[in-house]
Amino acid sequence: MDELEAKIEKYVNILRENDIRMTSQRYAILKNLAEGNKHPTTNEIYEDLKDDFPNMSVATVYNNLNFFMEAGIVNELPFGDGPSRFDLTDTQHYHIICNHCGKVIDFNYPGLDEVEKVVESMTHFKVDGHSFKVTGLCEDCQKLNL
Ligand code: ZN
Ligand code: MN
Repeated sequence: MDELEAKIEKYVNILRENDIRMTSQRYAILKNLAEGNKHPTTNEIYEDLKDDFPNMSVATVYNNLNFFMEAGIVNELPFGDGPSRFDLTDTQHYHIICNHCGKVIDFNYPGLDEVEKVVESMTHFKVDGHSFKVTGLCEDCQKLNL
């Protein structure tokens, strides 16, 4: 079993624990999310899979993403004005977003958990999370000489 299969297997088990039955379509959507850190939109998943699943619609993809979110294995990424992008909840990580093409790339930066503790002691809030995103122009878009 390679790394991708192991990752998918982990999510299949979580879905099973949530009584969400595995279908070949559902597996394909999960696999699409798991491979390559794409943070796809509903439409992008549909475009990738429609040839393999002629009966699938954008609504099917959307419904499955909702099941995944209810089971806690997928997050809807809260940025941009465009269509939502979806991300597996495998590791705690941050995102950098391209202002031009909307591409979303993961990066790890461990220092920020400390911020929660500092803010908590400064404000006496009970902190339950934070969000942080970095924006810019991706390498591909820089080549367009915008
Ligand atoms: Zn870009
Ligand atoms: Mn991500």
